[in-house]
Amino acid sequence: MQLTAIYPGTFDPITHGHADIVRRASRLFGRIVVAVAESPKKEPSFSLDDRVGLARAALADLANVEVLGFDMLLARFAREQGATVILRGLRAVSDFEHEFQLAAMNRQLAPEVETMFLTPAEEYSFVSSSLVREIARLGGDVSNFVSPAVVRALAERYANH
Ligand code: ADP
Repeated sequence: MQLTAIYPGTFDPITHGHADIVRRASRLFGRIVVAVAESPKKEPSFSLDDRVGLARAALADLANVEVLGFDMLLARFAREQGATVILRGLRAVSDFEHEFQLAAMNRQLAPEVETMFLTPAEEYSFVSSSLVREIARLGGDVSNFVSPAVVRALAERYANH
């Protein structure tokens, strides 16, 4: 059976850690929808369009991966997309409590959808979008953690700092 998995996040911006999870998942599922959340409460540094575009560029080599923006309840978007799995990445124990709470809540909202977790390659276990933004803002080199298009977008975003 060809399953669709949805991988939700803010992706502000997409990192090699996110891409590593998607690459692993693309070998397990028939179709992956990378669902870029509007996330207004997080006040993202990049617009939804930019975050979607950067994710598309970073994942362009994966034929069964689609990147879509959304601004609704994840449980509803998962249903709309015909996803039976919500995919999340776990970097460390510190991610667990929050992810456990989200998974339980999503099960209440969409009991037919299972949350599954993948772990990234070790070298990405300490990478986060917020840390990458902070390093870029302060002029540090982030090219080991994000794609070339994201390196350029960060340089432009923080050009005046
Ligand atoms: P959110 O706002 O939903 O936490 P993120 O874009 O930060 O959105 O993360 C989306 C998903 O990717 C989450 O499951 C998060 O734990 C996971 N993730 C973030 N960074 C990494 C990484 N370096 N390696 C693996 N998974 C990651």
